[in-house]
Amino acid sequence: MRPIVGITCSTLAATEPDRAGMKRFALPSFYVSRVVEAGGVPVVLPNVSPEEAPEFVARIDALLLSGGADVDPHAYGAEPHPRLGEVDPVRDHFEIALVKAARAAGLPIFGVCRGMQVVNVAFGGTLIQDIPAQIPGAIRHDQTTVDLHHPSHSVSLVEGTQLRALVGSAHARVNSFHHQAVERIAEGFRVTARASDGVLEAMEHEQGPWFQCVQWHPERLADDPVTRALFQAFVAAARTGSPAPGPAAPARAPARPAGGRSPAAAKGAPSR
Ligand code: MN
Repeated sequence: MRPIVGITCSTLAATEPDRAGMKRFALPSFYVSRVVEAGGVPVVLPNVSPEEAPEFVARIDALLLSGGADVDPHAYGAEPHPRLGEVDPVRDHFEIALVKAARAAGLPIFGVCRGMQVVNVAFGGTLIQDIPAQIPGAIRHDQTTVDLHHPSHSVSLVEGTQLRALVGSAHARVNSFHHQAVERIAEGFRVTARASDGVLEAMEHEQGPWFQCVQWHPERLADDPVTRALFQAFVAAARTGSPAPGPAAPARAPARPAGGRSPAAAKGAPSR
């Protein structure tokens, strides 16, 4: 059986005059396309109460946190900066519960853009709320001058990391449309890539199951070798349940809640 990849989404208010008060769950199709190409079965996870998170986690083989609005700074103990963008606390609460439950269950996790920021906040880190205002001399991370499907700045990969091994080179070119970034990295994670201005562009968990986060949008770079490597490795980890290489990697699903799948079932037993 092909692994099920749960993908988080945005909640958008309808703008049509005759749809006042209506909301839609929305996900750019690129995420779905990349997961399908890598051999996964994509399932979009709507933003519901955080208490529902374990029920979702019990039914998926991997978690992909997609891009979107800013994270509410209240979630990491900060006050709103004047340049803070739109926030969605409902989505924040759901995704934070989801990623904690997914990690506890030993699932492979992939955070993209806002997804990387949510991961960092969920595990105790903080965010820069506006790069242009808070980082003097920062390069352009909001690429409004070039099509979003093209790389706009370079990143340096950190030697000795899983991401560096995946990419297979010390440098990569990435697309970039974020005005926020990881500030203090959460405990247990390490930086895997930086832009030339020092902005954190990627991070990974130091141990255990596959857990990669990138600040760029690989899902939009369909033909990029780094995109392929990331999605292939992510879905492969979901398929086999094999923990990523690293020190003291725990077995898959050490803390799956009662009623969840056993590690044997997670390996693809035909019971589901
Ligand atoms: Mn960037």
